[in-house]
Amino acid sequence: MSFFEINHPVFRSYVLANAPLKQLASGFAWVEGPVWFADYGCLLFSDIPSNKVLRWAPGAGISIYRDPSNFSNGHTRDRQGRLISCEHGERRVTRTELDGSVTVIADRYKDKRLNSPNDVVVKSDGTIWFTDPHYGIATDYEGARAEQELPCNVYRVDPRNGNIEAVVTDVNGPNGLAFSPNEDRLYLADTGRMFGGDPTQIRAFDCSTSGTLSGGNAFHTITPGVADGLRVDTDGNIWSSAADGVHCISPEGELLGKILVPETVSNVCFGGRALHQLFITASTSLYAVSLNRRGVNLL
Ligand code: MG
Repeated sequence: MSFFEINHPVFRSYVLANAPLKQLASGFAWVEGPVWFADYGCLLFSDIPSNKVLRWAPGAGISIYRDPSNFSNGHTRDRQGRLISCEHGERRVTRTELDGSVTVIADRYKDKRLNSPNDVVVKSDGTIWFTDPHYGIATDYEGARAEQELPCNVYRVDPRNGNIEAVVTDVNGPNGLAFSPNEDRLYLADTGRMFGGDPTQIRAFDCSTSGTLSGGNAFHTITPGVADGLRVDTDGNIWSSAADGVHCISPEGELLGKILVPETVSNVCFGGRALHQLFITASTSLYAVSLNRRGVNLL
């Protein structure tokens, strides 16, 4: 039985009928934050409740990258290839330097502590954009319960001078985020307040070359489930997490097709030899599938 669902004929050419959906590893609590290291041929990803960042490499399987991880969630790499991490536990965004030391990129806004940075992306100009919902301080499961000091905003940091700016402030639960291939658009998943029952959606903002956002209208609503993490391919399609797998959405907001995964998906990232493999973090397991599309090379 195929694990693809075709919702638009074009999706038939995006997937490979003979490529398996492989479960690479399982037995985790809640995996998230995948990031591909082509230079090391490995994937890093978080098991948030277990307070670890894990490494997967073909042939070598799973090993521990960071333990404890300060309940790390989303990851990306900056333009120099350094790891950028969202930490629930320390309520901050960090950069791991090439010598292994850790630099704090952001932990406060207007002298108040961030909530629990969730996901992060770096624009080609080097600015670091991250979401700061309250999920990591709402319970003791993925961090530590604590008082919320700031609204759930999206921030942009210029690591050259440390300036931090709130760029989206009218969002209930900012979560995954990704730029379109030419960075003229920013997609933002709003998963609502924890226990809030808010409507959830992906929003699309127009982004100027200087990084100013406008618009922000509803772009697409994932069903079943929510858009948590998402990534974009070189054609501008959005590959989003959902309760039944991964949904592929066109730049016009139309559902093109699905990769059906047996567990609720939290996030995805492109990797492999040609950035043609989609790595999928899904509840207790890590999956991968080869596609006939390539992810945007972020470096
Ligand atoms: Mg997330």
